[in-house]
Amino acid sequence: MEERATDLSSSDRSAVSTVVSCRSVSKVYRQGEVAVYALSNVDFDIAAGEFTSLCGPSGSGKTTLLNLIGGLDSPSGGEICVCGKRFDLLSSAELSRVRLNRLGFVFQAYNLIPVLSAQENVEFVMQLQGVAPKQRSERARKVLSAVGLSGMENRRPAELSGGQQQRVAVARAIANEPEIVLADEPTANLDSKTAESLIELMLDLNQRLGMTFLFSTHDQLVMDYARRLVRLKDGQIESDQLR
Ligand code: ADP
Ligand code: MG
Repeated sequence: MEERATDLSSSDRSAVSTVVSCRSVSKVYRQGEVAVYALSNVDFDIAAGEFTSLCGPSGSGKTTLLNLIGGLDSPSGGEICVCGKRFDLLSSAELSRVRLNRLGFVFQAYNLIPVLSAQENVEFVMQLQGVAPKQRSERARKVLSAVGLSGMENRRPAELSGGQQQRVAVARAIANEPEIVLADEPTANLDSKTAESLIELMLDLNQRLGMTFLFSTHDQLVMDYARRLVRLKDGQIESDQLR
């Protein structure tokens, strides 16, 4: 097991460190004769504690970049280094370990396991991580409470609203204090009021606990919460602003 903090409240991430580094990253999808250049020469770093939004029109490369940073896909060119590990130098088992232990994922479609309760959904990832049962259960309760779902631990996804399901997904993503939470259009299936409250929750976790977030959106309301806004266009970074 890799070294990690064990208490949600004790994380000291004040020392600035680079969590993500992308160097001349490109991605070409080939479908027979056709090549789609999804990303070209992307240079991009994220430091611990950032709250960054990737934005840009549909097809600009947001999902591709998040998938590469999440180790879910590999680049056609360039280098990606996350938590000090160069992905191209890792075996697939090592890459899986980095994904499981150092990264948290939130997806547009929540991706909760329908037959498990909120509590069990959160515990499931910790079980894979080898966290002991008692610690798992306490920790799941704690993160569910942190996302405002105390009292709903035993509900299954179908018994929760979309906004509540996405809160469970956020709780699951942060349960073992990942170095960074990657969220691809986390509010895309939520109405604007619920979307705003989810992004406020993420910002609160960022500000209160120092958790690093990288999320994509094409929703202006969600973008407005970002502390750093990276705009993609045709697979390249068009602008990168601190706000
Ligand atoms: P975004 O998330 O910003 O909408 P994507 O990263 O999904 O953008 O897509 C970037 C480009 O890559 C688009 O032109 C898209 O059609 C193309 N693309 C994405 N995934 C694939 C794939 N699996 N096969 C072929 N082309 C793809
Ligand atoms: Mg996308």
